Amino acid sequence: MGNTMQLLIYMEAAIYALIFFLGTAIFSFLNVVIYRLPRHEDFVTGRSKCPDCGHMLSFGDMVPILSWLLFGRKCRYCKAKISARYPIVEALGGIAALLSVYIYGLSIYAILVFALCSLLTCVGFIDHDEMIIPDGLNIAIATIGVAAVFLTEDTVWYEHIIGLFIISVFMLILALIIPQAFGGGDIKLMAGCGLFLGWKNTVFAFLQR
Ligand SMILES: [Zn+2]
Repeated sequence: MGNTMQLLIYMEAAIYALIFFLGTAIFSFLNVVIYRLPRHEDFVTGRSKCPDCGHMLSFGDMVPILSWLLFGRKCRYCKAKISARYPIVEALGGIAALLSVYIYGLSIYAILVFALCSLLTCVGFIDHDEMIIPDGLNIAIATIGVAAVFLTEDTVWYEHIIGLFIISVFMLILALIIPQAFGGGDIKLMAGCGLFLGWKNTVFAFLQR
């Protein structure tokens, strides 16, 4: 009996390790999105390159976190320093994936929550770097919000519709009264997140800012 228990524990650990790795790999791709999306570069095709020397990266150069640690935090080809932000974003992805599954189990909702974390990470870094929130990201967040309403059980759909409007309309009114209070991207972001979260969580999220 003891052996079976131990085997189960090892299997569970292996599954969580795999989920962590998947999260880091997906967020490794997000690093590319964060860099290319505001520059209107194609991020789906086109191999990854060193932003400094333009050298194509091999598969071994792109192992999340480990490549950065193993190659001395530098590009292998031109020795340009690689920002710690890249492995940090990758680690965030691993943690987000772990938490999504730990809290919500292996479920559609866990995938939606992880997808929302991914999009919000893109929004956060692109907004920080470029002071814009690309519309595509806000549309994607709203789409996940719609999916959350339809795909998950015991959701009260009108709470999500109220969530769509409750803070975004308030921000829109403020923006009309006080110019430059919020950007249009911020308002759309709050609408999309409101749709996902429902109005109670949206108000809570807004007050936590
Ligand atoms: Zn380089």
